[in-house]
Amino acid sequence: MADHPYRGRRAALATQHGKERALAPPLARRVGLIVEPVAIDTDAFGTFTGTTPRAGTAAEAALAKARAGMAASGLPLGLASEGSFGPHPWLPFGAGGVETLAFIDAQRGLELTLSAVSRRTNFAHHDVRDGEDIAPFLARVGFPSHALVVKAADGTVLATGVQTMAALSPLAWPGHRLETDMRAHLNPTRMAAIRALAGRLAARLGTLCPACACPGWGETDVQRGLPCSSCQQPTQGIAAIIDGCNACGHRESRPRPDGVTAASPAACDWCNP
Ligand SMILES: [Zn+2]
Ligand SMILES: [Zn+2]
Repeated sequence: MADHPYRGRRAALATQHGKERALAPPLARRVGLIVEPVAIDTDAFGTFTGTTPRAGTAAEAALAKARAGMAASGLPLGLASEGSFGPHPWLPFGAGGVETLAFIDAQRGLELTLSAVSRRTNFAHHDVRDGEDIAPFLARVGFPSHALVVKAADGTVLATGVQTMAALSPLAWPGHRLETDMRAHLNPTRMAAIRALAGRLAARLGTLCPACACPGWGETDVQRGLPCSSCQQPTQGIAAIIDGCNACGHRESRPRPDGVTAASPAACDWCNP
């Protein structure tokens, strides 16, 4: 990819949490993009401790952060990530994590967001009870490599980024709540999830639109209507993958990568109503 349009270009990464460690290497390797951390107040877009609620969807929040980094740095390329952890209205099911990554190329009119659901998250909280051993909770959430937040019974944040027993012990009082600190630089599990998503973004940016040559060509939608193998009527099954370009709007459909071309009659409303 010596001739990739992003080779040697700088992209602003809005972060306070050291995410360039996860994001920069795959993007440098695959498309030659140079990720430049820009210190903006990302907490203004919402905090994990609940002191500032987030507005809109995770994708909207990530795009807004990316735009703030671009505005602060004057760079036309921007990047930001957003994590959501259950239980949360953005999450379709119980405890889990969703990482969302946004990329903006203002000159090409490209806005791209990618998300990954990870069931592997240490997201948890625990209310300390009188005379109780908190060691099992600490082991489960990966303390001290993964930091904690301590809150009073009324929800007041007493400490964040707690990573030592010396700091935790005086705060682990009955009635206090211990929560996993989900900020990326204090949560290696989360950092690994961001790294995996950065690899997907790099692959996506490495693929150019066949119509306008803008980076970021890839799956944007699916086409339903997979025909029933018995009666040939369309089902809700996925018939084809739709690749698209968010810059020029060009779309193409391609067969499912698993080679499936028909649905089981069991999934057909005609054969199995
Ligand atoms: Zn295009
Ligand atoms: Zn059928």
